[in-house]
Amino acid sequence: MHNLSTSLHRLISLVLFALPLLAHAGLPASSNVPGGVMVLPLGSVSAIADKPQAWFAEQPVLVTADEGQWFAVVGLPLDSIPVMHELKVQLGHETVLLPFDIRPKAYPEQYVTLKDTSKIELSPADLTRAEREIAAITELKLHWRDAPDTDLAFILPAKGALGGRFGARRFFNGQMRKPHSGLDVRSKSGKPVMASAAGVVLAVDDYFFNGKTVFVDHGNGLITLYCHLKRMDVKVGQPVRKGQRVGLVGQTGRASGPHLHWSVVLNGAMVDPELFLAAERRQ
Ligand SMILES: [Zn+2]
Repeated sequence: MHNLSTSLHRLISLVLFALPLLAHAGLPASSNVPGGVMVLPLGSVSAIADKPQAWFAEQPVLVTADEGQWFAVVGLPLDSIPVMHELKVQLGHETVLLPFDIRPKAYPEQYVTLKDTSKIELSPADLTRAEREIAAITELKLHWRDAPDTDLAFILPAKGALGGRFGARRFFNGQMRKPHSGLDVRSKSGKPVMASAAGVVLAVDDYFFNGKTVFVDHGNGLITLYCHLKRMDVKVGQPVRKGQRVGLVGQTGRASGPHLHWSVVLNGAMVDPELFLAAERRQ
């Protein structure tokens, strides 16, 4: 570990120099806030032949090449503390710590009214079930599969206007619950839900809160979830193409009406799905 090595200085100057210039079509929009995605340049592919490896908070991080440059694409958890953080980077035989800062972000509040209060005030049996499922989902979010490359330019997985946004501080019937961990797409029951990029189906299950849910693993720690489905059309281990139907829009689980809840997980962190959409689709 060389905290003050020349490599580190080289990396810092690269970051400071390169950040304002980022306009890479194949990469998510860089947003160094809790729930955002930090895109950090790691040097040119011609200078660094072997793909660098990177870790954030002990989790392996997605590294990809775009237009001749290596980039670390780092998911920042919603509960990140807005201070300086470090990315550990291995370049050949050298390990360096690359500092970056996370800026605070005030997400808006969202109020949801549910007639079925059993999904707000849980019975002891439902609480046990929900806790067991949250533990299982946490394991799935940390799943890592090495892939040669990962398509980071997602399509919106259902047709419709955007509804509840990622990160909203939510109140169900006036009671504060966890922030919104995905993006809602308003749609009608039975409309198709498509894989936002190519991948392999990681899990298919019916959860207390998320309802019928499909997980698609895109490789290198990038995973998408499609929740509240009426029907699931894929099996665990099945490869899916970008745009392939994985199920139908529904309102299973805790949902006030039919819609698609779409979540994106990167290095174990739930991040804002809109960052992965082409600029014209972000609203
Ligand atoms: Zn949602």
